[in-house]
Amino acid sequence: MLSVTFLGTSAARPTVERNVSAMALVREGETLLFECGEGTQRQMMRYGVSFALSEIFFTHFHADHFLGVIGLIRTLGLQTRAEPMVLYGPKGAKKVLGQAIQLGVERVPFGVDIREVKPGDVIGSDNGNGAPRTAYQIQVFGTEHGGGSVGYALREHERSGRFDPDKARAAGVPEGYLWGKLQKGETVDLADGRKVSAEGIVGAKRPGRVVVFTGDTRPCAAVIDAAQGADLLIHEATFGEEEKERAKETGHSTAREAAQVALAAKARRLVLSHVSARYSISADELVKEAREVFKETIVAKDGMTIEVPFAD
Ligand SMILES: [Zn+2]
Ligand SMILES: [Zn+2]
Repeated sequence: MLSVTFLGTSAARPTVERNVSAMALVREGETLLFECGEGTQRQMMRYGVSFALSEIFFTHFHADHFLGVIGLIRTLGLQTRAEPMVLYGPKGAKKVLGQAIQLGVERVPFGVDIREVKPGDVIGSDNGNGAPRTAYQIQVFGTEHGGGSVGYALREHERSGRFDPDKARAAGVPEGYLWGKLQKGETVDLADGRKVSAEGIVGAKRPGRVVVFTGDTRPCAAVIDAAQGADLLIHEATFGEEEKERAKETGHSTAREAAQVALAAKARRLVLSHVSARYSISADELVKEAREVFKETIVAKDGMTIEVPFAD
C-alpha cells in the first residue's frame, strides 16, 4: 500500500480551511513526512497520521514549510521516544533546522541528525535509523524557487514479472517451492534431470511506483525530468492564470503551468497544492485551468488521502 495524506495545502500562511505545507506519505506501514509547516503535529492528529516516523524531508526554508518542526520534535520528546530522527533539506538545513531544534529550554531527548542534500543525491540504502531501505529510494532534484530549493521523488525498485502458472505446469514444473524459485527468476532442476528457466514463465520486470513532490517552484525542466512517467505528481500551484506574472516574480507556478509540467512528464496524475489564500474555500478555478492542459488533475485539500496503485 502507498498513499499520501495532505496535512497542509495553503501557500504562505494558514487559513480557516487550510494549514500551511505538510504531506505524509505512507508506504507499507512506514510514514515519511514532507515539509512541516506550523501546526503540522495537530493536523497529524486530526487526520490520523502516525507519530512513529523517523524522517522529514524539507524542500526549502521559507517559514511556511518548516516552523512546525519545533513543536513536533518537542511533542515526540515528551513521548519517551528514543529512536533518532533524520531531517533532510537543501544547503542551509544544518543552520536553520539546528536552530529550530535548539530553540527553548527543553533538551530533545533523542538524536536528531540533519543531513544536507543536493540535486542528484539519492537517499538510498538506510533510513537513518539503521533500518535498510530495500524497496525504494528517494531521489533529490533541483527546483526553481530563488536559491537552492529541492524536490523529492520516491521511486520504488522494479518488481518481478508476472508468474504464469499454466506455463509452469506446461513445462512440467510441479506446484510448490519450485514455483517460488521461478518467481524469483531462478532456473530450477526437475526430478527428471531437466532444467527449466524462468524465461517465458515469468514476464518482464514491472516498474515500481513513483511519487514526486516538488515543493515551491517555477515550472522547470528538472521537475519534468524527475517526474517522467510518475504515478503521482504533487506540484505547487499557488496562483491562477490571472496572476501568472506574480507567479513568475515570486518563484511560484500557476495551475496551468503545473499541468504543462505533468503533460511534458507524461505523469499519470497531478495533484495541485500550496494554493494562495484566495483559493482557500474553492480552488475550482485552478482545477479548471489545469484540466484544459492535463485532464487527470485534482486540487488537494487538508485531510485528503490519495492511494497510489500500481499501473498494472
Ligand atoms: Zn511556500
Ligand atoms: Zn517558498
